[in-house]
Amino acid sequence: MDKLQRTKVVDVLRRTDFGADVNVKGWVRTHRSSKAVDFIALNDGSTIKNVQLVVDPTHFDAELLKQITTGACISATGVLVESQGQGQSSEIQCRDITLYGGCATDYPMQKKGQSFEYMRQHAHLRLRTNTFGAVMRIRHHMAIAIHQYFHEHGFFYFHTPLITASDAEGAGEMFQVTTKNLYDLEKDENGKIIYSDDFFGKMTSLTVSGQLEGELGATALGQIYTFGPTFRAENSNTPRHLAEFWMIEPEVAFIELADLMHLEEDFIKYCVRWALEKCRDDLEFLNKMIDPTLLDRLEGVVREDFVRLTYTDGIRILEEAVKGGRKFEFPISWGMDLASEHERFLVEEHFKKPVIMTDYPKGIKAFYMKLNDDGKTVQGTDVLFPQIGEIIGGSVREENYDKLVAQIEERQIPMKDMWWYLDTRRYGTCPHGGFGLGFERLILFVTGMQNIRDVIPFPRTPKSAEF
Ligand code: ATP
Ligand code: MN
Repeated sequence: MDKLQRTKVVDVLRRTDFGADVNVKGWVRTHRSSKAVDFIALNDGSTIKNVQLVVDPTHFDAELLKQITTGACISATGVLVESQGQGQSSEIQCRDITLYGGCATDYPMQKKGQSFEYMRQHAHLRLRTNTFGAVMRIRHHMAIAIHQYFHEHGFFYFHTPLITASDAEGAGEMFQVTTKNLYDLEKDENGKIIYSDDFFGKMTSLTVSGQLEGELGATALGQIYTFGPTFRAENSNTPRHLAEFWMIEPEVAFIELADLMHLEEDFIKYCVRWALEKCRDDLEFLNKMIDPTLLDRLEGVVREDFVRLTYTDGIRILEEAVKGGRKFEFPISWGMDLASEHERFLVEEHFKKPVIMTDYPKGIKAFYMKLNDDGKTVQGTDVLFPQIGEIIGGSVREENYDKLVAQIEERQIPMKDMWWYLDTRRYGTCPHGGFGLGFERLILFVTGMQNIRDVIPFPRTPKSAEF
């Protein structure tokens, strides 16, 4: 028997050398049989599209054909022919089929139209469905787009630690890292756990952000970005929060607020444009099956200028809306953090465009943000998106040593943990800033999926660490 090189489905569907012998391997999506002919739709994950195998049942063992059910894995060899059917240009007239693995009849992904919750319970197999295949391919392309953008713009990819001894950043609740025997914890006379004999000799946790170390990188290399896992033990069961997510954090020396906002807008548009160019088939599928406004929304973001809006003006608009009868679940007034519903009101109803909000009250933002001359607001810049709410959180950093220390003291952050960070302000301090983008929030936006658990292969959320 001939030994043909495997062709991926994505490539076979592009070929027009009809009459050639081809071999494809993949998982059976459907198998329809009639007396005269069988049709097998085969997918190998290289594209959302299936290749159609045309099988003359009289030339095959009936027992073999019976085992070629949805989910089974096969290798098929035959002749590439122009398709008579609709929706595909070519198909394969099968000559030989090898069954790698039949599929038990209780295959959980057999039925179409299962709920996303059901899919999450079978996250180990949901990757084989059309929707999750599309989402994961888009996720890949977005990761490449991000590296490409920063590389093209002269940023260095900078690796910050996942294990950290600083609990000062306050970006979220932390997961502890220890090798201590939790069944037999030694405590000091004040009832505090003794860490001196722990692996690192002190209390350590998983990082909630690489920013502080990123600032060390930026104040040496000029401009850097991180792209890595981030952990937050926030007990918030929302469709936009994960306990383990991926974050992108560029940090730039000598940048001012206006340029930082430009960077945020330019970067995110680049990523969305990239998706529109490289993920067309998958986006069209999602637009058809998940969210019919998806493509319009993506094209809108690329086309529109993002609104620049101060927090104070934003609050004024929200208060006007409340006066005009608009109901919100949570109250809102100057000094309060915006809830997602407020952010989405501004973006989806008021401006109908993405909004970059700036100059927040210092009380609701982190200690490192640069204080404005008014003494009340800081140079934070959050990017607010339709459907998502906050997609980016960024700021110009406080570069003045005394002002930074004052903020640390005001918030009673333990100084002993911060000495290395403060050194950047003692030795050749410079104006700088950056932002954090939650990778999964970007994927949510680009795919039109509704729940952040459905844009990462194996989600980690409160009470759930399966697979
Ligand atoms: P939120 O207010 O939505 O909880 P945050 O203000 O705590 O977010 P930042 O500390 O500013 O978030 O983090 C930067 C970015 O990281 C956010 O803009 C968001 O895109 C993303 N992000 C934050 N927390 C999570 C999470 N738990 N899961 C997924 N992405 C997150
Ligand atoms: Mn934020």
